[in-house]
Amino acid sequence: MTDLERPRGGVPAPKDWTYAPAPEARDVVTLADRYGHFVGGEWIEAEETYTTISPATEEPLAEIGQATPAEVERAVAAARDAYDDGWSTISPSERAKYLFRIARILQERSREFAVLESLNGGKPIKESRDVDLPLAAAHFFYYAGWADKLEYAFPNQRPRPIGVAGQIIPWNFPLLMLAWKIAPALAAGNTVVLKPAETTPLTALLFCDVLRQAELPAGVVNIVTGDGATGAAIVKAEGVDKVAFTGSTEVGKAIQRELAGTGKKLTLELGGKAANIIFDDAALDQAVEGIVNGIYFNQGHVCCAGSRLLVQESIYEPVVDKLKRRLATLRVGDPLDKNTDVGAINSKQQLEKIQELVAVGEEEGAEIYQPPCRVPEKGYWFVPTVFTNVAQSYRIAQEEIFGPVLSILTFRTPDEAVEKANNTPYGLSAGVWTEKGSRILWMAERLRAGVVWANTYNRFDPSSPFGGYKESGFGREGGRHGLEPYLQLDDSEAFGG
Ligand code: NAP
Ligand code: MG
Repeated sequence: MTDLERPRGGVPAPKDWTYAPAPEARDVVTLADRYGHFVGGEWIEAEETYTTISPATEEPLAEIGQATPAEVERAVAAARDAYDDGWSTISPSERAKYLFRIARILQERSREFAVLESLNGGKPIKESRDVDLPLAAAHFFYYAGWADKLEYAFPNQRPRPIGVAGQIIPWNFPLLMLAWKIAPALAAGNTVVLKPAETTPLTALLFCDVLRQAELPAGVVNIVTGDGATGAAIVKAEGVDKVAFTGSTEVGKAIQRELAGTGKKLTLELGGKAANIIFDDAALDQAVEGIVNGIYFNQGHVCCAGSRLLVQESIYEPVVDKLKRRLATLRVGDPLDKNTDVGAINSKQQLEKIQELVAVGEEEGAEIYQPPCRVPEKGYWFVPTVFTNVAQSYRIAQEEIFGPVLSILTFRTPDEAVEKANNTPYGLSAGVWTEKGSRILWMAERLRAGVVWANTYNRFDPSSPFGGYKESGFGREGGRHGLEPYLQLDDSEAFGG
């Protein structure tokens, strides 16, 4: 835009802004036609396969292995061998060396990973490039630092590894969730069998190449692909000592039932229906950015998404007006375009789930707003959506939609905000927007949520523990707390955590 075109003394209407396409080059990624499973440091041919696609274009990308229970057993045996053969006993600073290597290689190859993540999962390239990749590398750096300091992290508790960890992850942050799982497990001296989600296996498979480049001993990390049946086989496998699961509450409950009485350790990171709470003294423009980031980031496929907006009644109108205006500027479309804000919905199945719940919201009597927006003909898309006139009892205020859909409710007093925010079976996260520090602390004390963000939203840092209350699960990932599920510890009064 030249200076002459630059609007003076006013905000231009969104239609005045036009963006030329700015696609990220795809040729940085080389895909194989067919992938097997990564077991004992080698690729093994998969007995059965399925096709993985790009959700933005529905084009097939590669044939992926659908691991059978026998293949899972083989991966678990490889992990056990690697554990016994030295990973659990080599000097911790050696373990750290590999983790540092992995972190550095992820940084070096981040463009390749970011493009592949967007291609296979549908998230905007600016998010995979600026959020997923830097955070995944940061996780490996962070836990590399802990590997030789476990005795300081858990003084007088003789921290020892557990054995083989079976790890199952979802499709919304494929590489980042892999990093959250693998980095602390390895730092603590365990070996791993990990299954990425059925719809997003490709970055986990490319990660196997990183493991080879880092010369990680064979069998320390094994990756098997497949659907829920493969996940169930990991949970059941005899040789697995600890299960770490991130996904839906429904599957999490089934896993917990399955493991009850087996002595296997378990951590569950499940769903959420977080309240993002805006008080009348908040900086409104910043709060509106936080609302947008809270629910439209990653198409709303975020377990800690701020999907229930609680606005103080006195500022309801300006907030909703500003939000609607802001929504009209969001660019929905090609995930590989550097200007895209909202990409493709991850799968047809997820799109149908979103459509179904949105239809229910309209039937129940909520008022829907969607900005004018054209989406591509092929692929899975959902326009950023706001519901007003929402009652707490509506399904759209209760259930996780896991899409770009916001439900707006109001409150009058801080007590009422707390009551409404906590009125959910979930408890993963919450946001509070206010000028007053004392009010932030007052709220944080009362909100039943694992993470409370103040005047920001969806902020992640490897040093900060993340996890749920109630039906959002148990166990923490990130920080020193994130090491604990991967360690055997002596009981000790000395440790207060
Ligand atoms: P999901 O169906 O529970 O899947 C999660 C993972 O578990 C996938 O790898 C899945 O394989 C696998 N799986 C499915 N059925 C299984 C079974 N019976 N036994 C073992 N593994 C099984 O969830 P999703 O639909 O992929 O993801 C969306 C949900 O995950 C949302 O509810 C969201 O809130 C939650 N989530 C939570 C967090 C967190 O940190 N708390 C993070 C991300 C997502 P398939 O891919 O084949 O289904
Ligand atoms: Mg699923």
